[in-house]
Amino acid sequence: MTDPNCLFCRIIRGEISSKKVYEDDHVFAFEDISPKAPTHVLIIPKKHFAGLKEAEVADAEIIGRCHLAAAQIARQRNIEQGYRTVVNVGPGAGQSVFHLHVHLLGGRPLAWPPG
Ligand code: 5GP
Ligand code: ZN
Repeated sequence: MTDPNCLFCRIIRGEISSKKVYEDDHVFAFEDISPKAPTHVLIIPKKHFAGLKEAEVADAEIIGRCHLAAAQIARQRNIEQGYRTVVNVGPGAGQSVFHLHVHLLGGRPLAWPPG
């Protein structure tokens, strides 16, 4: 279920401290250590898998749950005028941690397309 050496699994287990935003049986959310917007929260499944590329049909529900948690956090923070959920897939897209995570970015104007 969790990977002993994975940074985000270690955050879930509390071995590495984080500013927790939300948690339920399936999902954990915390503040990004290097925020790129006034709201920059990472939402991750408690089950370890490396990313969207590695996801299986059985992971469909948890991927949805991560996005629904993002929507709930956005509602609580009153950033519903415009926010973005992002999943970087692969190093070429900027993925640097290989435990699937949804970025929730908001609280400022967000240009399109992203870089
Ligand atoms: P990626 O680049 O893989 O899409 O996103 C990884 C994110 O994890 C980055 O935005 C980075 O700032 C964040 N991050 C990396 N290490 C840590 C950490 O130890 N704690 C927290 N809270 N965020 C981290
Ligand atoms: Zn992990």
